Amino acid sequence: MADGKQSGARPLDIVIVGAGIGGLSAAIFLRQQGHNVTLLEQSSFSNELGAAVHLAPNANALVRRMGLYAEEIGANPTLKMTQYLPNGKVLFSSDLAEQNKRWPHPWLLAHRVHLHSEFKRRATTEEGKGKPVALRTSTRVKDVSGDGIVTLESGEQISADVVVGADGVHSRTRYAIPGSAGVNVFGSGKSAFRFLLSRQKALDDADTRKFAQNEGEMQIVMGRDRRVVIYPTADNTLLNFVCIHPTSESEAKKEDSGDWNQVGHKDKMLDVYKDFEPALIKLLSMADEETLKVWELLDMAQLPTWTDGRLVLIGDAAHPFTPHQGQGAGQAIEDGASLAVVLPLGSSVEEIPERLKLYEKCRYERASRIQEYSRIAGKDLGDGPPLDIHEYAEYNFGHDEWDASTEALRKWTNETRA
Ligand SMILES: Cc1cc2nc3c(=O)[nH]c(=O)nc-3n(C[C@H](O)[C@H](O)[C@H](O)COP(=O)(O)OP(=O)(O)OC[C@H]3O[C@@H](n4cnc5c(N)ncnc54)[C@H](O)[C@@H]3O)c2cc1C
Repeated sequence: MADGKQSGARPLDIVIVGAGIGGLSAAIFLRQQGHNVTLLEQSSFSNELGAAVHLAPNANALVRRMGLYAEEIGANPTLKMTQYLPNGKVLFSSDLAEQNKRWPHPWLLAHRVHLHSEFKRRATTEEGKGKPVALRTSTRVKDVSGDGIVTLESGEQISADVVVGADGVHSRTRYAIPGSAGVNVFGSGKSAFRFLLSRQKALDDADTRKFAQNEGEMQIVMGRDRRVVIYPTADNTLLNFVCIHPTSESEAKKEDSGDWNQVGHKDKMLDVYKDFEPALIKLLSMADEETLKVWELLDMAQLPTWTDGRLVLIGDAAHPFTPHQGQGAGQAIEDGASLAVVLPLGSSVEEIPERLKLYEKCRYERASRIQEYSRIAGKDLGDGPPLDIHEYAEYNFGHDEWDASTEALRKWTNETRA
């Protein structure tokens, strides 16, 4: 087996481990830069979950740069935000349609399966810029190394110029990074019941209609240590529910099933919110038990670095996200974009470790800060000062990672060529 590849200004051979939102984003951007990309995915994609994800303006800017207008796959804009007390009293309601005009791109709410499928199609199609990505499903990676060797569970070894660990919160590739020993994911103390419901079903009932009457409305029913977040997706035809509560009350366990697919029990969910207003209980009771999931919200301390030689981490493998700001997918997309910017066609193999360090420099502080905002946003009421909503919106949304990384690359190129 060759020990990685030798130099030359040619398309790089890039292997990405994991075809989630992060791995697919990186694959699309790197293919568009002209590289040869192979994606290794352990699953067969038959279990993709119905749920929604935010495409905040910072993420949507990059999705549009890929060439995708997510409105075409049913993503709908966020137009209003309403917060309720558990007894049903409205705490505040803001019209976001006007406010959001200050961002160059709309804040969209996308169906995760639709987004994932479209990313997969764009990565692998013959159409568009660059060569189609070679996607190998049902292919589990066992080990990776900083010199470009990927070892599969089957024993097969693949040699690459760059290896990208995009294998999510339970990453294996993370443990090939120096200093990662002992940096483990841990439960944040909270879990979330998740399900989708037909918006029409909620509209058809006079008691629950208020939760469905407005297109693009994000609603949060805020208790002290539990909350219910509801927002529409799929062209406003579905309502997405994320019902966050103390893990001890639903006994979601991360060791139970790779966590995303753990079955939730409706009676348990109704019990968790039993003190909330009857209209909300009625709405929650419309959930289909067959598709109700419970998801433990995981966290992790910072890794000291995300790179080793020609190995680099992106997305949840580098920085797992709690969902309180809807930025997990967005930050993974930003990572993918930044990585492609620092690896333009013509990058030599010798420069790769330095270029990956540049990617880390572009991304580390921002991803870490948004992780921290997310932790603060998830705190129980009365547990420390609340997040300044304007500060985080400016920081999160008012950023274009493609432009920021391009500027960093320009400076780096000037310095290294001087
Ligand atoms: C099913 C699912 C549902 C989610 N729902 C939400 C949500 O509703 N809201 C939200 O904010 N965030 C959600 N997330 C998290 C959010 O999507 C992530 O924060 C974000 O997309 C980061 O993506 P990622 O690509 O880094 O990781 P992931 O999306 O976790 O993707 C990692 C990929 O790597 C693959 N993989 C793992 N190990 C190996 C291996 N050894 N070999 C090969 N492949 C491997 C996995 O099968 C997976 O496809 C969800 C994630 C998943 C997987």
